[in-house]
Amino acid sequence: MTPIKTDVLIVGAGPAGLFQVFELGLLGLSAHVIDPLPHAGGQCITLYADKAIYDIPGLPSCTGRELTDRLMLQIKPFEPVFHFQDVVKSLEPLEGARGFKVSSERGLCFEAKSVVLANGVGAFLPRALNAPEQVQYLGKQLFHGQLENALSQFEASKPQKETQRWKVWIVGGEDEAVLNALTGLQAFKHLDITLIHRRTPLEIDPQLQEAWEEALEKSQGVQPKGTGDASEVGSTLAFKHGQIVHLLSEASEAGQNRTDQTALKALEWVDEKGQTHTSEVDLVVVNLGLSPQLGALSEWGAQMQKKQVTVNTEDFSTSLPGVFAVGDVITYPGKKKLILSGFHEAALASFGVAKWVLEKDRIPFEYTSASALLQARLRIEP
Ligand SMILES: Cc1cc2nc3c(=O)[nH]c(=O)nc-3n(C[C@H](O)[C@H](O)[C@H](O)COP(=O)(O)OP(=O)(O)OC[C@H]3O[C@@H](n4cnc5c(N)ncnc54)[C@H](O)[C@@H]3O)c2cc1C
Repeated sequence: MTPIKTDVLIVGAGPAGLFQVFELGLLGLSAHVIDPLPHAGGQCITLYADKAIYDIPGLPSCTGRELTDRLMLQIKPFEPVFHFQDVVKSLEPLEGARGFKVSSERGLCFEAKSVVLANGVGAFLPRALNAPEQVQYLGKQLFHGQLENALSQFEASKPQKETQRWKVWIVGGEDEAVLNALTGLQAFKHLDITLIHRRTPLEIDPQLQEAWEEALEKSQGVQPKGTGDASEVGSTLAFKHGQIVHLLSEASEAGQNRTDQTALKALEWVDEKGQTHTSEVDLVVVNLGLSPQLGALSEWGAQMQKKQVTVNTEDFSTSLPGVFAVGDVITYPGKKKLILSGFHEAALASFGVAKWVLEKDRIPFEYTSASALLQARLRIEP
């Protein structure tokens, strides 16, 4: 693949990464940004998009989404290129030139003169089920996310059988899991859906709670059909208070090795009283939310302290020459995980990056309010 050449590769499109684009742009440096999420904003969008933030200087109140929109608008003149739904994999120095070759999980290859780590607390990846056998069924009979997507991928792998009913277990107790269960109940006629969650009551929106209780009540007394004609009863819904502990194949049911490669047939779950049950299953959809994971970055060799990168606070350089780091991913004495700290760090890091990329000892410091050069870079009409 032809490498994507850029002055700087920014790892992470959270507020620190976005403002890093701005500060680098002021110094005339171009940037590509990579992020596993399908959108910019990092924690501001993933964790509190519609909540108000009150400590952004000059903005008495704005939501996580508004702040992201404003940052995206502010960096528009610098035309950053975003690569969403992808994660960096390896980093190695360029041969015979200053810079790095960075490859991504989706097969992109960057040649960047410098790299800025702005990956926050890590990539938000779906929280996994606590069953050791899950890996062998992932993408076949076990999925994360929407039931509809899971079902279409699962059914695509099956020979066409119009009357086949499926036993679907949805794991989770928040809005996403309950919405998946209710959508499955309404949109399909051939599913016996069981929602399992280790806590009651469910942690859901009050309006959703009403819809959930109503649907569950209507389903009571309607027995799962198992196999046969789907259209007679339509889909069914049940709730189990408990936790899945094992996924079982035909072979493991017969007492053989649990990690063999055959299809998923049943699951073992423990109820709130600690009793173990075995239930048949065709498809498992896991909706346990997202958890942050640092991934391959932790193996790049930058000095770290408790999963955070240590930096020189003069220019936010890391122990790897040419690699800088800002935002929640870094630690230094007195570090506060605040958006405004990330902005400050990005401003100072940009001077360190510019020195490295332009191979200069000094980068002129100018004000946006007074500099014709900076205003031209910002595309402000004279
Ligand atoms: C509930 C909550 C409320 C908060 N309220 C406030 C507040 O009121 N005021 C305030 O100042 N701060 C607040 N914070 C803290 C603030 O959100 C963080 O300090 C800020 O988001 C850090 O920005 P960041 O860009 O460093 O990291 P993040 O926002 O975490 O963004 C990092 C980005 O990097 C991406 N990434 C991770 N790993 C990789 C990888 N391997 N490759 C590519 N990309 C990767 C992630 O997907 C993410 O998009 C709050 C935090 C939470 C959880």
